[in-house]
Amino acid sequence: MSWLSNFVRPKLRALIKKSDNANNLWIKCNGCEQMVYHKDLKDTLSVCPTCDYHMKMSASERIEWLLDEGSINELSIPITNIDPLKFRDSKKYVDRIKDAKSKSNSEEAILMASGQIGGNNAMVVALDFNFMGGSMGSAVGEGFLEASKEAIKLNIPLVIFTASGGARMQEGIFSLMQLPKTVVAVNSLKEKNIPYIVVLTDPTTGGVSASFAMLGDITFAEPGALIGFAGPRVIQSTVNETLPEGFQTSEYLLEHGMIDDVIHRKNLKYAIANTISLLMQNTTNENLPSY
Ligand SMILES: [Zn+2]
Repeated sequence: MSWLSNFVRPKLRALIKKSDNANNLWIKCNGCEQMVYHKDLKDTLSVCPTCDYHMKMSASERIEWLLDEGSINELSIPITNIDPLKFRDSKKYVDRIKDAKSKSNSEEAILMASGQIGGNNAMVVALDFNFMGGSMGSAVGEGFLEASKEAIKLNIPLVIFTASGGARMQEGIFSLMQLPKTVVAVNSLKEKNIPYIVVLTDPTTGGVSASFAMLGDITFAEPGALIGFAGPRVIQSTVNETLPEGFQTSEYLLEHGMIDDVIHRKNLKYAIANTISLLMQNTTNENLPSY
């Protein structure tokens, strides 16, 4: 037994680790199916250099990229009753949360931080699709509420990056209660004339699209993102009709007047900084990033 545990097991672990690392070096693009070297993706902000496909970014990557260096002040995620229904399907909900934490390296599907975007103060919220599909449970709703309260307190705009499959079913009715809660939070921003800027990223669907994602004063989207309530396959099988090409993409929504602009990721920071600067009448700002 000692030979097995002292010699064989560490060797096996090292082998598995090695192959894991080798796999992580090359990432397959979902747009053109080509393998892209991970360092190239860092330079292009996770946009495929061949076909311009915008890959998913984690919440921490978003915040680090958007906020000016040294200005990030992370907000802690409010403590909620993690498993109010003691839910279990093929796995316990608490175990799913544990797995999601270790896989995504995040505490929840939301991250909030205040800081500066090109010298403009802002509160930034990012949803994390790597954490249970960015699903909205009590923690996400409370986190959004907390971020909006902080934005009001500091009199700074709220910017959110959405990425979600919808409400977190494991929390049942408690997840649906986050819809009115976040809508009330957005309304309280509007009452105080605090700008609320939404950036829709791939995918933004379900309960998130039915609440705070569609209530922005200004709404941007990344190219090619899937945005809608129910997915296209569900709609197609319900209405029994072929859907138009590009249905529920950012470009389709722009064409039909649902959003303000579709912006390439490399230009997003400038667009957000510029918008905040104009809305806050900070036109003398000289620190705007240039591209
Ligand atoms: Zn590609």
